[in-house]
Amino acid sequence: KLHNEIQELKGNIRVYCRIRPFLPGQKDKQTTIDYIGENGEIIVVNPSKPGKDSRRSFKFNKVYGPHATQAEVYGDIQQLVRSVLDGYNVCIFAYGQTGAGKTYTMSGPDNGSEEEWGVNYRALNDLFRISQSRSTYKYEVWVQMVEIYNEQVLLAEISAFIALTYIIGEKICMDWVKRETCLAVPDANMRQVNETSDVLGLMEIGFRNRARSTTSMNERSSRSHSVVTIHVRGTDLKNGGSINAGLHLVDLAGSERVDRSEVVGDRLKEAQNINKSLAALGDVIFSLSQKSVHVPFRNSKLTQVLQSSLGGQAKTLMFVQLNPEATSYSESLGTLKFADRVS
Ligand code: ADP
Ligand code: MG
Repeated sequence: KLHNEIQELKGNIRVYCRIRPFLPGQKDKQTTIDYIGENGEIIVVNPSKPGKDSRRSFKFNKVYGPHATQAEVYGDIQQLVRSVLDGYNVCIFAYGQTGAGKTYTMSGPDNGSEEEWGVNYRALNDLFRISQSRSTYKYEVWVQMVEIYNEQVLLAEISAFIALTYIIGEKICMDWVKRETCLAVPDANMRQVNETSDVLGLMEIGFRNRARSTTSMNERSSRSHSVVTIHVRGTDLKNGGSINAGLHLVDLAGSERVDRSEVVGDRLKEAQNINKSLAALGDVIFSLSQKSVHVPFRNSKLTQVLQSSLGGQAKTLMFVQLNPEATSYSESLGTLKFADRVS
């Protein structure tokens, strides 16, 4: 059944739209979201000229309203995550303006309870747990974390997720990972996850680091792409054959347009690099959805890093994150148009 469902999806790309709630204490609750349908339809309305003509409708594979829980969202992508254990490369990323809930979906809120844990933790835990329970395969699970900032691929030390690369045991980067999977960024630290407590340890340190992270780091995190890669190698215990696959979990830089007249120097360069890489990602997914022969992976570092989990047999899921506020109308419309082009 899953197989059929996947076959039907154009280019193995699916798009889920998620609208975050108004934040506690927010007084003005004027919204730009006019309608959310169970069939994946969303209608936004231009708050400055409400009326029939200012409504725009979009349709995606799913739309989550502000009350959707983390568990509900993960439940819908669980099969996709688990397909990594069968050898599929998978890419899950969150797109949207800063403040729209990308980090909430991928990681969860700072100091959140277990129910609030995001996709990263649930996926890692799930993969690990299932890999342990299968008796015909022996799996190894490795985690790697990089940040892409200004078209440079950086180890994640400076990111708030420092934990993910620095946690478990010795500093090791296994040769097979470099050799046999194209997912690995050479020389990025790789950590093996051996027990459930490793996974839990990861989460704990991740939360601690984020809680400690400064405002400037938060600022910075909205201007870089954070990529968590989970590598899985499975060995068939009967015939010794092996499966290598990986899951990319990506919290993209904020997609908001920066007013060119207001930024100069480094800030302008940053903004240009974000635009460039998000546009490149859009172009890659668009050409995959069109089944183009030429897919322009080489136009940005982001698309180079993600190449193995985009296209071919790989499966891609985009979370389109929206801020419901009326003042976010034009950014939300920009986000929806980006998503519409690739879905
Ligand atoms: P982004 O990473 O896109 O900049 P965040 O994930 O940091 O946005 O979300 C902005 C704020 O909204 C945070 O305080 C976050 O906890 C909150 N938030 C986002 N999505 C949700 C949600 N679905 N439910 C509750 N709070 C949310
Ligand atoms: Mg964020």
